[in-house]
Amino acid sequence: MVNQFAFPKKNTGLQALFGGTFDPIHYGHLRPVQALAKQVGLQKVLLLPNHVPPHRPQPEASPSQRLEMVKLAIQGNPLFTIDTRELEKNSPSYTIETLTELRQEKGSTQPLAFIIGQDSLLSINTWHGWDKILDNCHLLVCSRPGYATQFTDPKMQAWLSQHKTAQPEKLRSTPHGYIFLGDTPLINISATEIRQKLIAGDSCRDLIPEAVLQYIHQQGLYQR
Ligand code: ATP
Repeated sequence: MVNQFAFPKKNTGLQALFGGTFDPIHYGHLRPVQALAKQVGLQKVLLLPNHVPPHRPQPEASPSQRLEMVKLAIQGNPLFTIDTRELEKNSPSYTIETLTELRQEKGSTQPLAFIIGQDSLLSINTWHGWDKILDNCHLLVCSRPGYATQFTDPKMQAWLSQHKTAQPEKLRSTPHGYIFLGDTPLINISATEIRQKLIAGDSCRDLIPEAVLQYIHQQGLYQR
């Protein structure tokens, strides 16, 4: 597998990554990120499928099936491309390791962003090396229905307030360090719900791109 995109050394504006298990990729991933891209002026979003550590619940689809579904989901959409670096490694990488690697590739001055959903923001302090993330990139957050808009822990809320910006220009003019809470559509979809619906034989037509759905059926994925 070859990375389909390499970060150029010269400044090409704000570039953003969006990591996920994508088991499978769905409209709850794609639509909020497309809205976010408009809000902050992202030219490209690199989807970064994760290599899941063995001690965590394993994805039902294999790494190559998850990658294929991501490819099918973004075909013909110029906003998205794929970075396969985590899938190519023999062992899972922590997000902070990937971000540090990307920061080294880009140099110290180019802006870089990592996109997460509101649920991931609320649990970010459980991530290994989470307090170094903003040393490498900005965080762009998509709203997600059913999740609080504030941390319950006052220390985490203070961390958010300290780094929050509502000005997209700041994301482009500084290399890292800000958190931008996007005003993105609330899409009540999760991969867990999709897997359950597929097992139950329910329709997922409005939840995932048609090409992904066809692939799932063709491969016999998410059936018990
Ligand atoms: P699962 O149900 O298997 O846990 P998921 O649907 O949450 O999966 P992931 O691949 O784990 O999908 O998520 C990758 C990223 O996408 C995370 O940052 C998550 O917060 C975000 N995300 C997933 N679904 C949504 C959604 N409906 N709205 C906003 N963000 C989302």
